[in-house]
Amino acid sequence: MATRTFDAVVIGAGPGGYVAAIRLAQLGKRVALVERESLGGVCLNWGCIPSKALIAAASLVDEIREAAGRGILVEAPRIDLARLREFKSAVVRKLVGGVGQLEKGNGVEVIAGTARFTSATGIEVAGGAEPLRLEAPAFILATGARSIEIPGFAFGGGAVWSAREAVDLPSVPGRLLVVGGGVIGVELGTVYAKLGAAVTIVEALPGILAGVDPEAVRLVQRGLRQRGATIHAGARALGFERRGEALAVRIEVGGVAQEIEVDQILVAVGMRPSTEGLGLEAAGVRVGPRGFVEVDGQGRTSAPSIFAIGDVAGPPLLAHKASKEGEIAAEAIAGRRSTRDWAAIPAAIFSDPEVASVGLGEEEARREGRQPLVGKFSFGALGRAIAMDRAEGFVKVIGDRETGRLLGATFCGPEASDLVAEATLALEMGATLEDVALTVHAHPTLPEAFMEACKAALGEAIHAINRPARPPAGGRTDRPA
Ligand code: NAD
Repeated sequence: MATRTFDAVVIGAGPGGYVAAIRLAQLGKRVALVERESLGGVCLNWGCIPSKALIAAASLVDEIREAAGRGILVEAPRIDLARLREFKSAVVRKLVGGVGQLEKGNGVEVIAGTARFTSATGIEVAGGAEPLRLEAPAFILATGARSIEIPGFAFGGGAVWSAREAVDLPSVPGRLLVVGGGVIGVELGTVYAKLGAAVTIVEALPGILAGVDPEAVRLVQRGLRQRGATIHAGARALGFERRGEALAVRIEVGGVAQEIEVDQILVAVGMRPSTEGLGLEAAGVRVGPRGFVEVDGQGRTSAPSIFAIGDVAGPPLLAHKASKEGEIAAEAIAGRRSTRDWAAIPAAIFSDPEVASVGLGEEEARREGRQPLVGKFSFGALGRAIAMDRAEGFVKVIGDRETGRLLGATFCGPEASDLVAEATLALEMGATLEDVALTVHAHPTLPEAFMEACKAALGEAIHAINRPARPPAGGRTDRPA
C-alpha cells in the first residue's frame, strides 16, 4: 500500500471539512481532503441546498395559487416533476463543482475513499482508485451525521424515505406521513403539502419544533393546516404494513391506537454522529455518551493530533456551525489561538412562515437569571411586508434590563432567515437595544421590523402603540431632549 505524507488531512468534505481544508491551505499547509461520496456532504447534496431549491419552487407554486388576491389570474399550476428534479440537481451540481474548483485552486488534494484511523497520525483509505496510507501530524474529523432509523420503519424498501430520498423528489405522494415534527419534518412536510400531498405529521413531544418560540410555532402550525396538513402531537408511529397500493400505519395519539392509510412515509426523527468504522479507538479519540466526539474549545479531541468539527462533534447540527469550527480547527493546527468564542449561532427554519432566531429567547433569559426586556413588532404593521402581501408574523427582541444589551431575537415571517443576520452581527458586536433603535434602516424594507422591535423594547416604537416600558437602568446613552 502506498504511503503519502501531508501537513494535515481532513476526513469528510461537508461544509465543515471542505472549509477546514481551504483554510489550512490558505495558512500554508499541504492538505488532503478525503471523501467517500460527493464533495459538499449532506448540506450540498442531500440537505440544505437541494431542500432550499425545492422549498423555493414549492413556495412559488403556493404564491401562484394565491395570486388572485392581488389581481393576478392564472390557471392552476401544474408541476413537471422531472424538470423540477433536474433544476434541483443542477443547483447541487453547480455548487459541488464550485467546491471542487475551490479545493483545486487552493492546492488541496481531494482523495476519494473511506478513511479509517490506524493510529493517531495515520489513516488507511479504502474504496478509492488504490488503497492508500496517509500520514500527517494533524487530522480533522468532519464526518457529519446520518438520519436515525426507528424500529418498524427501515429505510431502503421504498415505502420509507429518509430526508435524503425525500429531497430527491421521486414523486409527490397523494398522502404523506411524516414521522418527526422537527426541523426536517416541518420543512419537507411543507414542501410536499405545497406540491399537493395530504401531509400528516406525527410528533412524539407535546408539540412540533421543540425549543422554538411558541408564538412562532403556532403560526407555523397554522400555515401547515392551511395547506391541508394534519398534526398529531404526543403521538408515535408504531409500524406499518402494505395494503394493496397503500401503507396502513399504526399510530398512537395520546395513548389511543389508530390506523391511518398513506402512500408514503418520511421518517425525520433526528440525526446521530457518523463515527462507525473510523477506528476512533485505535487513534485514542473519546466519544461522549450520545456518540458525539468530545472536543475542547478549538475542536481538539482526546488525541492531541486529531480535531473534530461539525455534526460529529455535537449539536447544534448546523452547516454554518460546522464551517466556523472548521476554520477554528484549521487555524489551531496552524498555531493560531483561534477558539469557539462566538457570541451566538443563528438558526433558521425554512418553514412557512420562516422562523429564525439567535441568542437567548425570553424563557432562556429568565432561566439564566436575567431580567429580560422584551420588544415585539408585527409584520402586520410594516409597510414592506403588507405591500408584499406577506404581513404574517413578528420580530421579538430580548434585551437585558440592567445593561440594555441585546440578548437575543426571534424572527417569524417573510425572509426571517435573512433578517436574523443583522441581529447576529448586533449580538457579536455587543450592541444595545438602543444601538439598533438608533440605526437608520432603509425604508421600506423588512429589517425595519428589527429596528422597531428594539424601539418597542425601549417603549419608543413609532409604528406601534407602546406599552408603558421601563427603560434599561444602565448602558444607555441619554440623548438630548
Ligand atoms: P430534530 O431533532 O429537529 O427533530 C426530530 C423530531 O422527531 C423531534 O421533535 C422528536 O421529538 C421527534 N421524534 C423522535 N422520535 C420520534 C418518534 N419515534 N415518533 C415521532 N416523533 C419522534 O431532527 P430532524 O428534523 O431529523 O433534523 C436533524 C438535524 O438536522 C437537526 O439537528 C436539525 O437542527 C438539523 N437540520 C437543520 C435545518 C435548518 O437549520 N434549517 C434543516 C434540516 C435539518
